[in-house]
Amino acid sequence: MNDIFDVLVVGGGPVGACAAALLLRGSSDNGSSYSIAPLRVCVLEPNRPQSPLEGSALESRVVAMSRASERILKSASAWDRVLGPRVGAYERMRIWHESVAPSSSGALVFDAAEVGEPNLGYIVENRLLQAALLDEVAHLGGRIEPAGLLGLHVGPEFVTVETSTGSLSARLVIGADGAKSAVRQLVGLTADIADFNETAIVATVATGRSHEKTAWQRFMRNGTLAFLPLADGASSIVWSADNDVATALVGMSAAEFATELDRASDLALGSTRLLSDRVAFPLQRLAAHRYVVHRCALIGDAAHVVHPLAGQGVNLGLLDAAALAELILVARREREDPGALRVLRRYERWRKSEVAFMSTAINAFDRFLAHGSGPISKLAQRGLGLVNRSQEVKRFFVSRALGVTGELPRAAR
Ligand SMILES: Cc1cc2nc3c(=O)[nH]c(=O)nc-3n(C[C@H](O)[C@H](O)[C@H](O)COP(=O)(O)OP(=O)(O)OC[C@H]3O[C@@H](n4cnc5c(N)ncnc54)[C@H](O)[C@@H]3O)c2cc1C
Repeated sequence: MNDIFDVLVVGGGPVGACAAALLLRGSSDNGSSYSIAPLRVCVLEPNRPQSPLEGSALESRVVAMSRASERILKSASAWDRVLGPRVGAYERMRIWHESVAPSSSGALVFDAAEVGEPNLGYIVENRLLQAALLDEVAHLGGRIEPAGLLGLHVGPEFVTVETSTGSLSARLVIGADGAKSAVRQLVGLTADIADFNETAIVATVATGRSHEKTAWQRFMRNGTLAFLPLADGASSIVWSADNDVATALVGMSAAEFATELDRASDLALGSTRLLSDRVAFPLQRLAAHRYVVHRCALIGDAAHVVHPLAGQGVNLGLLDAAALAELILVARREREDPGALRVLRRYERWRKSEVAFMSTAINAFDRFLAHGSGPISKLAQRGLGLVNRSQEVKRFFVSRALGVTGELPRAAR
């Protein structure tokens, strides 16, 4: 095998698969009077998942997808493959600090109805999202190579890639291979990487009271606890706790864990019962110094990893995918080389500042609401209740949660 592609996407996670689908969709749908051949796109993915079986229990690994992400998936023609009985919309968010009761006026509540929206987003299983996007890539004529990246050489005209099944060449390589990105390392792009010293525990739980299609989140002095409402009435929890606390939580029996969960949630949803295994994710933050070199661009977790407390990782990555795909398609229409550094730099300038803004905000939430006890933390805790009283400030936060602010790629508008 030594095939030549226009674009080779390394990593068919949700972000890489979405970039590939947008490129295939955009290049087969020219909308112009002159014809240009559709892009030849290949995705390198050693672990392609199957969609969860119909009727099987919902998986605990889910993402909260924003309105912008929904629109991007529609632009990639993958939304119809995602939406179905396994996907639940959430209509409200209730956020509070442990110093107040969940039902008190000190809790911050965002309601989709208040801003004239049908919902604030959707809770989607990771596997369903990834499988749907890869299925759409195959449907649009993209190649999915079931192999891992072993080596990479950037030449003046092409990048040549060694994989476990042979070599491939492409005019542009997109590194979408996650936080431990081999592409990032092989092309010599450096990153700031730091431990949060926290571990996120993910599990599915049954709750005594209905989740009311609401995402619930409690900030505590040693972490955050979120209940994401699933379509079948259960909830997926993401409990980010200091490492020693998380180790103890994973090691205890299901009954002991439920007791701790009831304490940590202040019984906001009544008493809980564990329905799945607990899976632990050690948390790191990562910010690549540069996102691009000649003929190579990083997107998604390969370029930046943020704390899961705001549920923004995939949402930021899908915006990267849409921004990069848009610029590549424009370059192609203007007969520019899509792998040229000047094209890729436009992507870097666009997305790096947007990601830095979101990442700083998320880190501040972690530092002052989930961990701090000093005067700034007290102010931040009071701030939750104050935001609640101003419709204008609330609207600002809701539009950020919907992902419909900032410089949006066309696919997200
Ligand atoms: C506990 C937790 C909860 C989260 N909740 C949310 C949420 O609610 N909302 C949200 O938006 N985000 C959330 N996130 C973040 C989200 O999961 C990530 O941001 C997202 O998975 C990144 O997608 P990606 O496609 O960039 O990378 P990944 O999902 O890591 O995919 C990378 C892909 O690359 C492939 N790969 C790796 N190495 C190679 C190689 N050498 N060759 C070829 N392929 C390779 C892998 O097989 C994989 O398929 C959460 C994260 C955690 C830890």
